[in-house]
Amino acid sequence: MQYIKKIIVADHAGFCFGVKRAVDISLNIKKQDGGSVYTLGPLIHNDDVVNFLKAQGISQISIDDLCRLGEKDAVVIRSHGVTPETLKRIKRTGAQVIDATCPYVASIQLKVKKYHAKGYQIIIVGDKNHPEVIGINGWCGNTAIVTRDGTDLGSLPDKVCIVAQTTEKLSNFEKVVEAASKSGTEVLTFNTICSATKERQGSADEVSKKVDLMIVIGGKNSSNSKKLYDICRTNCTSTIFIENAGELPDWVTESKDIETVGVTAGASTPDWVIQEVLARLEKGLEAEQKGSISTIDVDRKDE
Ligand code: SF4
Repeated sequence: MQYIKKIIVADHAGFCFGVKRAVDISLNIKKQDGGSVYTLGPLIHNDDVVNFLKAQGISQISIDDLCRLGEKDAVVIRSHGVTPETLKRIKRTGAQVIDATCPYVASIQLKVKKYHAKGYQIIIVGDKNHPEVIGINGWCGNTAIVTRDGTDLGSLPDKVCIVAQTTEKLSNFEKVVEAASKSGTEVLTFNTICSATKERQGSADEVSKKVDLMIVIGGKNSSNSKKLYDICRTNCTSTIFIENAGELPDWVTESKDIETVGVTAGASTPDWVIQEVLARLEKGLEAEQKGSISTIDVDRKDE
């Protein structure tokens, strides 16, 4: 006996624009000259996608293994972007560089380069170990101050330019701007936080308030999926985090206490993984609901 009556899929679930673009670019590369296609590190934090790419002949290469590349090979730069030095290292191998840096990230890199050249001290609000931040810092010669909340800024020079990691919290960006402004220095700010993160979090928050069980689909290493889980868990104590349909526990469709199920997914979760989870849940709809697809809100907006 199965008891689910309604499934609500969050708007803005799954691939963001930059991730979708990077995956599409990678899959569209056609090598007919015997060369291989690599991504510099995992293209995204999702094992299903990484395995899918591998099955298409696209494997990963690490920065330390670039010496293995030949002129016929191609290397895809992932949406996080890289430093100019890394780009040069790949080009020196003779391999083709395919730049799938998200345009929003590329725009931050250019700002940082421009204002560093104009004499501004660059401040990046974000995680100093995140590949996106490491890449951005490279565009100002690795001279940026990287801070999470501005408490560690120290004394600042005459003029500073503040940017943010695209997935940073707005409150952290505002704290850094406030701390820098108090120092009496000239402060130029660019709020470079990407709306994709905010939209995903907002719709996950909304859906998780209305359901008996919330399902977050995402890669185990995906920090944006984990943040979605935290948000949903605050509203709905019955929130589970799964990577794919194979991890959906049987009790979800067997429990009498679950009538309404919410579904969201991180920015690195492909649509096919979401659809497989929905297909399993749909089997759990009560008999009278079967064929009544309108009970499932699949009106998700593409970005
Ligand atoms: S989260 Fe935003 S900045 Fe990052 S890859 Fe996606 S669209 Fe680009």
